[in-house]
Amino acid sequence: MSRSESLFQAAQVHIPGGVNSPVRAFKGVGGTPIFFKSGQGAYIFDEDDRRYIDYIGSWGPMILGHAFPPVIEAVRKTLDNGLGFGAPTAIETTMADKVCELVPSMEMVRMVSSGTEATMSAIRLARGYTGRDKIVKFEGCYHGHSDSLLVKAGSGALTLGEPNSPGVPEALAAHTITLTFNDIESVKQAFAEVGDQVACIIVEPVAGNMNCIPPVPGFLEGLREICDQYGSVLIFDEVMTGFRVALGGAQAHYGVTPDLTTLGKVIGGGLPVGAFGGKKAIMSHIAPLGPVYQAGTLSGNPLAMAAGLAMLNALCEPGIHEQLAAKSEYLTAGLQALADKHGIPFTTTCVGGMFGLFFTSAESITSFAEATACDTARFGRFFHGMLEQGVYLAPSAFEAGFLSNAHTEADLDATLAAADQVFAQLS
Ligand code: PMP
Repeated sequence: MSRSESLFQAAQVHIPGGVNSPVRAFKGVGGTPIFFKSGQGAYIFDEDDRRYIDYIGSWGPMILGHAFPPVIEAVRKTLDNGLGFGAPTAIETTMADKVCELVPSMEMVRMVSSGTEATMSAIRLARGYTGRDKIVKFEGCYHGHSDSLLVKAGSGALTLGEPNSPGVPEALAAHTITLTFNDIESVKQAFAEVGDQVACIIVEPVAGNMNCIPPVPGFLEGLREICDQYGSVLIFDEVMTGFRVALGGAQAHYGVTPDLTTLGKVIGGGLPVGAFGGKKAIMSHIAPLGPVYQAGTLSGNPLAMAAGLAMLNALCEPGIHEQLAAKSEYLTAGLQALADKHGIPFTTTCVGGMFGLFFTSAESITSFAEATACDTARFGRFFHGMLEQGVYLAPSAFEAGFLSNAHTEADLDATLAAADQVFAQLS
């Protein structure tokens, strides 16, 4: 038995499913999750001392590689001063200034400790600000696990929410309208019916939780227009895309500015940080300036701020995002060529440092329906084949892949060589 197998058995005694977040359990691909003990640059090392080229990067934060020296150094330096005070510290202002400098929509920002907290708080703010209850989200977009957002779509343009999970009250889910990503007509139609009751639209500007699906031209612009027309708040959930698809996030990349933005992952440099912010006129409604309540014992924690600030400063070095995008393009083009060579129906997407792999005969993927129609069993075989070859991909066909700038051309070529062998087994 490998150490991962015995650790997984032990973990299941007191941890539900043996994991502290469900996707880690390998449910989507089968098999035993790998237990890791260290990471360095593009590599992670498991408890059995095997090395993997990592394309998860802790689900996004490790955009400059694992144990990135400036981040480790910043945390180490801060450590000796104590772990936090639950009171203001200077670094929080430096961090807020930096985030507002980099992200086009940010005039004010509040730090929290996870992406879920960021989206939950942004939704409450949008509701408090507009005095409206309904929210609009898109099928296949994930915004964390707060009650209002754990709602699935039914069919049709305007589907009143049905809870996605036991424990989400139907009365609350009923306020969530779930529409079709990349289908601006469905949004226009819904707003024509209930637009004056909609507090906000929340969207992943590049969908990264149904594999990786970029917005079609006009979709984000259309959402902006509709929100302006109906006085609803436009929220870009940039927990995944923030500082990744471009320094200023997807809003900078696509040139569409939301009213509020939520951030997570990269902003903490690997420590637990989220943030929400945007227009001053809206953010002024947050306590203690305004009546919409939001708080956090560990919000703005000095260690987390030190890690995040070191990360953001490092990302400001010129050329980083161009390199990331070039690497994603090299990898996805290489995989496509190999799949074609082996006659495997396959297509890819990529934006900046994120990418998607789809086992499908469709030419391109722009919708949730197309993403879910892909061959997930084949993806599972591909995943396990790559894992055996020492390449760690997300253990689900519905997650985006993440590159880091620590991935060298040699790492990408080694990944392609592995894929050549695995595609051969799949054909
Ligand atoms: N929004 C998006 C777009 C996400 O991808 C995630 C997590 N993957 C979240 C929100 C929730 O963030 P967290 O897991 O930090 O709560």
